[in-house]
Amino acid sequence: MFTQVKTISEIEAMREGGRMLATVLAQLSKIVEPGQPTKYLAKVAANELKALGGKPAFLGYHGFPDVICISLNDEVVHGIPRTDKVIAQGDLVGLDFGVSYRGMITDSAVTVIAGTPLKSEHAALIEVTKESLYAGIKQVKDGVQTEDIGCAIQRVLDTHGYGIVRDLVGHGVGHHVHEEPNIPNYGNKGRGERLQAGMTIAIEPMATLGSHEVSTDDDNWTIRTADGSQAAHFEHTVLITTNGYEILTKL
Ligand code: MG
Ligand code: MG
Repeated sequence: MFTQVKTISEIEAMREGGRMLATVLAQLSKIVEPGQPTKYLAKVAANELKALGGKPAFLGYHGFPDVICISLNDEVVHGIPRTDKVIAQGDLVGLDFGVSYRGMITDSAVTVIAGTPLKSEHAALIEVTKESLYAGIKQVKDGVQTEDIGCAIQRVLDTHGYGIVRDLVGHGVGHHVHEEPNIPNYGNKGRGERLQAGMTIAIEPMATLGSHEVSTDDDNWTIRTADGSQAAHFEHTVLITTNGYEILTKL
């Protein structure tokens, strides 16, 4: 289903849910430390969101077993929190969280380093991937085409020679975790589906220090780089407005 123009009250629900999501992600980002099992962070996320009054959108989505995806190092996305998966010094920790509030869903992700970076390249990958997200967001306004966004993201990531994951892309969001259309992280200006004010989309570049190719683990969830290179992921849910955009998943 093509992402719909949302009503004022639906947008308000996404704004509130998005604020909860941002609150939890900011909190998790601050407490990430070497020695923590990823399941510990998932429990914190579940408890904090409950206290704020939101519901986890990913739990049970296509059977996903937890409230948050936590992906380490060469894992790009969809890592399952585990008690026996312990974060090490210098790990790249991807936190991808979804919130449902008054029936409306928001989706956002950040990548942080646990402790101090092992290599300056890791910190740079994270900074540039975040920069590419904002380059994509800046394209957003009524009438924007999906590849206008992808093209802006690609330009930033290409400059640094990073791999741009192609098998996973951004998407419409709101009534469902994933709505059409796809929002690729690459493309050509002036191409792709045309979007309009009132629609809500998740923009989410995934970049690697190697190639763009990924593979899926035997758990049927974890997606990792095929060449074992480190990956970073940033995501915001964005409302398209007449003149621009509003980021819904921020404080
Ligand atoms: Mg997400
Ligand atoms: Mg998403």
